[in-house]
Amino acid sequence: MKIEPRLAAAVLAAVLGCAIVAVAQQKTWGIHDLERPMAPVIDPGGPGKPPSDAIVLFDGRDLSKWVADKGGGPAMWKVENGYMEVVKGTGGIHTVQGFGDAQLHIEWMAPKPPVGESQDRGNSGVFFMGGRYEVQVLDSYQSKTYADGQASALYGQFPPMVNATRPPGEWQTYDIVFERPRFAADGSVQKPARVTVFLNGVVVQHAETLSGPTANKARPPYKAHEDKLPLGLQDHSHPVRFRNIWIRELTLERP
Ligand code: MG
Repeated sequence: MKIEPRLAAAVLAAVLGCAIVAVAQQKTWGIHDLERPMAPVIDPGGPGKPPSDAIVLFDGRDLSKWVADKGGGPAMWKVENGYMEVVKGTGGIHTVQGFGDAQLHIEWMAPKPPVGESQDRGNSGVFFMGGRYEVQVLDSYQSKTYADGQASALYGQFPPMVNATRPPGEWQTYDIVFERPRFAADGSVQKPARVTVFLNGVVVQHAETLSGPTANKARPPYKAHEDKLPLGLQDHSHPVRFRNIWIRELTLERP
């Protein structure tokens, strides 16, 4: 194959450019260095409004950003009055787009009047990275269950620091910072996943380190996976509602 010299020069320049950028990113900045890049400017949004750099995953109107776990067809959950509601038996749903390090805002409501007990009461879940890592959604307001399975638990691993849930029939907010795990080329864990959760504005999980995927009655080890995978919501046969869902992709490294 003949390589056109100008193309080869352009490729070389691009590679060198990347190398220069990489070196620049590794620079250790002196204190108050005025050359250090300022943070990008965003509009933080008003109350109940997403920041300008957020990806809105559900604005109350349609499920176009979501597909069914089963078969990957259209998400079959009910949409009305600005919220989506789990339709029992249709299965979980997940976003078309994949995400890695992210800040997620999501609001949820457990059914009123409450039906059932323990895990069989307003159960759903927010899953990061293709169903692997669950922040539990549950009606655990004045309701007993196992600690690492109550609302805002990192399921099967970490109970929340406090139970800050509201009664069923009221909207509740999750603000979650999810740091994806890092894997080496041989599949070993370089850095495990970490999760921070605010429930109704109260910090309930602070940079907790997951031991691996969350699971029922098990703590399986990590298995290497892609850097970006869909966000999922669980159908646990209960008509839990969700609204105002937005996500921001995070760049944890800084110049
Ligand atoms: Mg669940």
